[in-house]
Amino acid sequence: MLIVLDGLGDRPNEVLGNMTALQAAFRPNLNFISRNGMNGLMHPISPGIRAGSDTSHLSLIGYDPEKVYTGRGPFEAMGLGMEVRAGDIAFRANFASRDDAMRILDRRAGRITSGTAELARDLNMEIGGVEFRVKEGVEHRAAMVMHGAGLSPNVTDSDPHEAGKKVSSVSATKPDGEITASLINKFLVESRKILDESDVNHDRIREGLPPANEILLRGAGIAPKLEPFSDRYNMKGACVVGIPMISGICSLAGITPLSVPGVTGRVDTDYRGKIKGAMEALKTYDYVLVNVKAPDIAGHDGDPILKRDVIEKIDDAVGQLVHLAEDTVICITGDHSTPCSMKDHSGDPVPIVFYSKGIIKDRTAQFDEISAQRSALRLKSGDVMQYLLQLSERSEKYGA
Ligand code: ZN
Ligand code: ZN
Repeated sequence: MLIVLDGLGDRPNEVLGNMTALQAAFRPNLNFISRNGMNGLMHPISPGIRAGSDTSHLSLIGYDPEKVYTGRGPFEAMGLGMEVRAGDIAFRANFASRDDAMRILDRRAGRITSGTAELARDLNMEIGGVEFRVKEGVEHRAAMVMHGAGLSPNVTDSDPHEAGKKVSSVSATKPDGEITASLINKFLVESRKILDESDVNHDRIREGLPPANEILLRGAGIAPKLEPFSDRYNMKGACVVGIPMISGICSLAGITPLSVPGVTGRVDTDYRGKIKGAMEALKTYDYVLVNVKAPDIAGHDGDPILKRDVIEKIDDAVGQLVHLAEDTVICITGDHSTPCSMKDHSGDPVPIVFYSKGIIKDRTAQFDEISAQRSALRLKSGDVMQYLLQLSERSEKYGA
């Protein structure tokens, strides 16, 4: 069982007496596991890299993002709950305001807050046998997914990335992107007609608001075709996660997302229910990934008290696990640090602990960033799968 506490790592917070949220939390169960486990620090991806949740989770489940990650588009689309299949091309998108000369007046259409669901729905279309789907996100944000044969992510953005500049038509960055680029340009022409005629924009203009009459595309990526997890590791995998992006990544690898009642990607998730659901899943599956998003949310909010409090709730839930180590290898770590002082991901390493019957214990007695510095393990996220395999006596010998 791999438990990923999203954005777990932190830096000292003045309001917590210069402790990290983890240090400041009452965490008897995490400390018990540390005391009885093998501890250290894990670098998400590689030392100093400020990993995203997508690249880090790919790496934690054993797929090298250097080889399979071409851009944020597909992962952002999954994050909005869109269905993204291997070979699909996806973009991050913005609803924007443009004038008749194709100049971008506002890249965020006045931070539009309503009507985007309707606009997105109207942009779903098919061109040349390729399906285009758009879904709205928060405010002006959206994503666009293309589904069809022979598509390529090797195309430029239509987003000029600066107000006052003209919308660019999309072009190929490699020869295999030419057909895809021309399809996207047709989609953009068509989408402008639809957006110009939409009631949402007529109303906005009447109210003196900037119309959302352009959809700007950026960050093209292809949803990778991953070797199935079951073939690669000879294990049947499942995951208990509250955020669509991570369940989307798992789905691409053939790790089955399970729905557990009360589990969300927010701070109000059912922490105990999540761990209980994962323990239940181990009766049917060989490998279970759990993601708890709450510490990352608190980190992005810059709220050390909230981060400490959600870690205490996690600790309480983790208490259910302490006897599981009889027949299960448990690993607890983060996918990256989200220091409250930074309100974003940093490149700091995160504590990691492995816990199972008969494991070599070290002298670490507490689970936190500082105690982990005195432990021996120094891993990268890409090593975690091998550690889980060898501790569960599932790895092949390398050599004779
Ligand atoms: Zn994350
Ligand atoms: Zn984050």
